[in-house]
Amino acid sequence: MQPKDIVFVGAGVATALTVIELIEQLRRESVAQGANIPTLVVVEKNAELWKGIPYGHRSSPNALVITPIADFIYERDRQEFYAYLQNEQDTWVPDHRARGGAIADKWLTDNLPKIDQGEWDKVYTPRYLFGNYIAAKTETMLKSAVADGLLKFETYQAAATDITPLPDGTNLLTLELPNKAETDLLCRKLVLSVGSAPVKTLAHGDVGGLYIHDIYEPSATGHMKALEHLFCNSGDPAHNRLLIVGSNASSIELLYHIAGNPLLRQALAKTVIISPSGALPLHTSTQKLTEYPMPALQALRERGGYEIVELSKAALADMQPALANGANMDFVGAIVSTTLQLMDVLDDQQKREFYAIHAIKMRDMFRRAGPEYKGAALMLTEAGRLEIIKGRFVAVAKGDNGLTLTLTYTDADGLEKTYPEPFQVLVNCTGSQNLDVSESPLINHIVNKGLCAMNLSGKGIDAGEDFLAAPGIYIMGPLLGGNMNKLIHFWQLENVSRLSYLAPYLAKELLKAE
Ligand SMILES: Cc1cc2nc3c(=O)[nH]c(=O)nc-3n(C[C@H](O)[C@H](O)[C@H](O)COP(=O)(O)OP(=O)(O)OC[C@H]3O[C@@H](n4cnc5c(N)ncnc54)[C@H](O)[C@@H]3O)c2cc1C
Repeated sequence: MQPKDIVFVGAGVATALTVIELIEQLRRESVAQGANIPTLVVVEKNAELWKGIPYGHRSSPNALVITPIADFIYERDRQEFYAYLQNEQDTWVPDHRARGGAIADKWLTDNLPKIDQGEWDKVYTPRYLFGNYIAAKTETMLKSAVADGLLKFETYQAAATDITPLPDGTNLLTLELPNKAETDLLCRKLVLSVGSAPVKTLAHGDVGGLYIHDIYEPSATGHMKALEHLFCNSGDPAHNRLLIVGSNASSIELLYHIAGNPLLRQALAKTVIISPSGALPLHTSTQKLTEYPMPALQALRERGGYEIVELSKAALADMQPALANGANMDFVGAIVSTTLQLMDVLDDQQKREFYAIHAIKMRDMFRRAGPEYKGAALMLTEAGRLEIIKGRFVAVAKGDNGLTLTLTYTDADGLEKTYPEPFQVLVNCTGSQNLDVSESPLINHIVNKGLCAMNLSGKGIDAGEDFLAAPGIYIMGPLLGGNMNKLIHFWQLENVSRLSYLAPYLAKELLKAE
C-alpha cells in the first residue's frame, strides 16, 4: 500500500484553515518542491466538508457566533470575510430570510442597519455564513492547487476508528465506511482534527420520553422540527416540559431557537435546565471602567512565595467584580494578564497545571453569549417558562405513564432529589467527556492503547510545539486545549481566531521534509 503524505481526520474549520495555509506555503515554495507532489487526503464522517459542526448543516441556520465578529475572526482575515459578505449580500439576505423563518426575520431587522453602516465588527453573525465563506475559499484554492500541480487531493467519507503505528514510522488508519465496511489508509503524516471529544450518554434504552443525545446530530434543524411536532400535537399542553442538562453555549442556543419559534414558544409549558453552575453564559458588559482593582492578586504580588493553587484562587476572587454586571472583558483580560505575569516565577509543572486545570475554572466563569441569545433566555424566564437548577444530573427514569421521564439530581448541598414534575424530552447539552472514557472509538483507542497521552485537563491530548502527539500523529483543534509549550499554550481551542493563529505553524510542520 502506497502511503498518503498528509491525511486529515475531520474536515471542520480547523482543517480548512490549515489546508488554506498549506496551499499558500506550497505556492511560495513550489520551485523548491520540484517533482515531489504531495498527496493530501481528508477523511470526514459527515457528507459536508470544511464547515464542521458549528458552521454547516448540523447547526441551525439561525445559530449565531458566540462573540461579535471582531472577537471571532483573526484580524488578518476579517476584511476578506466582510468583503465576501458584502459581495454576496443580495444572495444570502433573502436566502437567510427563507431558511430561518421568524428568527431570521428578526435577526435581519435588528442587524441589517448595522451591516448597512459597515459596523460588521459588532454583529453576532449567523454561523453558517462563515462556513459558506471558508468552504468556498478552501474549495477554490484546492481546485487551482491541483490544476497547478501543487498537490493531489482525495477525500473519504468515513469515520476513523483506530490507528496502528508501523515500525517504519508510518501509521495505519482504520476507517469505517458509511456501509459499515472497513478499510485502511497508510499515512506518512496524520492530523487528528476531530473537534471536541463527544459528550457522555445520559440515558440508555427506553426512558419514557424522547432523549436527544446530541442536538447537532444529525442536525439541530431536524431536532427542532421533532420538538415542534411533539409539543404542538401533545394532548395535554400543560404537561409539555423539556429538560436540558448543561447550561453552556449549546443550551442557551436551544433557548434562542425555542423563544424565536412562535409555535414552540406557545406550546412548551416549561423548560428546566440543570447544571453545576446553575447559570447561563453572561452577557458582555460594555461598561467602560477607569480602573481594574485586583486586591487578591496585588496581595500575592506583595507577599511573594505563592504556589499555583493560591494564585488561581486569588484570580478567581478578583474575577467576581469583573463579572458582576455581565462579563467586562477588558477587566477579565487585565486579570488574566496579571495572573500570567505572576505565574512567571513558578516552575513549568505549575504552569502546566494552570493551563490544564485552573484556567478552565476561570474560563467557565466568563462564558458569554450575545444579546440575541441572552434576550431569548430572559424572555422565557420573565414568562415563567424557564427554570434553572443548580445541581448535578443523576439519572432519568420512566415516569408512571411510561411516556414521560422523571429526573433525579443532587442539589447544591449534595442532597438527592426527584424533580416534582415529569418531562417529555431530555436534551444533552453537557460538555466533553474525559478522553480515556470517550465514546469516540478513535479517541478511546489511541488514549487507552497508550499511543497518545491525555494531558492534565483530561480533555486534550499532550502535544509538542510541533503539534506531534506520537510519531507521525499531529493534533489540531480543541484536542490541543490544556497544553503548554512555547507555541501552544491555551486552556481551550474552541475558538476560530486561535485556530487561525496556529494553522500556519501546523502547515509548516506538515510540509517539512522528514
Ligand atoms: C455548536 C458549536 C458552536 C460553536 N460556536 C463557536 C463560535 O461562535 N466561535 C468560536 O470561535 N468557536 C465556536 N465553537 C468552537 C468550535 O470548536 C471551533 O470554532 C471550531 O468549530 C473547531 O473546529 P474543528 O474543525 O476543530 O471541529 P469541528 O467543527 O467539530 O469539526 C470536526 C470534524 O471532524 C469530524 N470527525 C470527528 N470525529 C471523526 C472521526 N473519527 N472520523 C472522521 N471524521 C470525524 C466531525 O464530523 C467534524 O466535521 C463552537 C463549537 C460548537 C460545537
